[in-house]
Amino acid sequence: MLAPGTLHCLRGTDLKIATVVGARPQFIKACVVSRAIDRLGRQDGRSITELLIHTGQHFDVNMSDVFFEQLGLREPDHHLGICGGGHGAMTGRMLGALEEVLLEAQPDWVVVFGDTNSTLAGALAAAKLQIPVAHIEAGLRSHNRSMPEEINRVVTDHVSDLLFAPTATAVANLVKEGIPSDRISQPGDVMYDVVLRFRDNAGAAGDVLRRFELDERGYVLATVHRAQNTDDPARLRGIFEGLAAISRSQPVLCPLHPRTRQALARNGLLDAIGQVRLIEPVGYFEMMELERNAAVIITDSGGVQKEAFFHRVPCVTVRDETEWVELVEVGANRLVGADPQAIVRGFEQASASRIDAPDLYGKGNAAEAIVRTLLSWRAGSNARPGLSGGLQPATAQSTPAS
Ligand code: UDP
Repeated sequence: MLAPGTLHCLRGTDLKIATVVGARPQFIKACVVSRAIDRLGRQDGRSITELLIHTGQHFDVNMSDVFFEQLGLREPDHHLGICGGGHGAMTGRMLGALEEVLLEAQPDWVVVFGDTNSTLAGALAAAKLQIPVAHIEAGLRSHNRSMPEEINRVVTDHVSDLLFAPTATAVANLVKEGIPSDRISQPGDVMYDVVLRFRDNAGAAGDVLRRFELDERGYVLATVHRAQNTDDPARLRGIFEGLAAISRSQPVLCPLHPRTRQALARNGLLDAIGQVRLIEPVGYFEMMELERNAAVIITDSGGVQKEAFFHRVPCVTVRDETEWVELVEVGANRLVGADPQAIVRGFEQASASRIDAPDLYGKGNAAEAIVRTLLSWRAGSNARPGLSGGLQPATAQSTPAS
């Protein structure tokens, strides 16, 4: 397996990295990678430029702008303004627009994150132009192809040149699918970097508990947004019936994704939520403060499952499977599906549990390891790593990465 930090840098070569983001979790993950590009670029003494491309998939103030502001992401160089429509239409429009930008910019790398339509479009547009692609959060699998995210992940991984897998399970998934191990590395999870970096800033949102009249460890934080749950009225009803039952004994606060609000309204479920408190999506600092003070977190979000663990708050996942299997194995998370009774039981078990597991997602320096690895590959040939005549780990003419 490719070992981050053991490759060597070519000095004196300019490097252009195009980063494609579009959805909330990508803004969060990108902030630490952008920072590492900036810092290591200066240290390395060569000109490294990052071109930030926002597809527009998430666009509201509270799904996009707030993350740029709070996490110090600079203004995107390109905002494609593409959102809404079916998966195919949205991805197709992104592909066309990204192709134009990439053709003009001619980057050495395209970096994509996670599993959204923006991820897929970025990876595919670059691969077709023979621009090397790096996929951050590679190798995650639910093994459920009815999830749009699973399709996006599988395709993205298979057109990517460097695959940054956050866990050993993710590495094993990639190897099982025949991806050459010299393209895979396991730097840890950039979301852990973000939590460590901003842990102290979350205090800036310190009045959030008071604002929502919540006591430390005296409430449940819930998020629901996966299409699997929002697009299936029976599952959506089941989840909110479970949350409503819990809300009879404890406040349940639910920052609601716009898709979920629409689905609740469309299915006439807004009256069936009991005392669950629906609020608008919150900023990252507010969310971190709400997460770390919750008694239990109930979610179908990938990122929130991990953040619950980072803050050692017990988690209940309203899905039938998870990509973050290690959390279930160590007892930090339990999968309960969408059945109301199972949700209540899961909540009761979680309330009575303690999390004793060690760190599972690296040391909080994943972004730096990723950027070092990108810098280590000879860039600019517009050919693919691992293919003959293409990019190779730079060993000759090299000096160790600092
Ligand atoms: N998040 C946030 N405000 C909210 C809900 C979530 O800042 O109201 C953050 C959360 O802390 C995590 C990320 O958004 O960092 C997770 O994104 P999401 O659940 O949309 O996507 P997923 O992780 O499932 O891909």
